[in-house]
Amino acid sequence: MLLEDDAAQEGLDPEARAELRAIRTSLDRIEDGTYGSCARCGAAMGEDRLRALPFALTCVRCSAG
Ligand SMILES: [Zn+2]
Repeated sequence: MLLEDDAAQEGLDPEARAELRAIRTSLDRIEDGTYGSCARCGAAMGEDRLRALPFALTCVRCSAG
């Protein structure tokens, strides 16, 4: 699986790597049961934000500030 193969990422630009990292973190958070809550303040991110940005790690307020 691509996500588990670091060697396969060598050709990726930094932006794509950052996105992959966010996806991996989100998958970890799903396993932890913390997915959907802001990584910074702990507030629920809300369905709208997750639909727009499924791998967001922080709520709108934290990402803006
Ligand atoms: Zn927050």
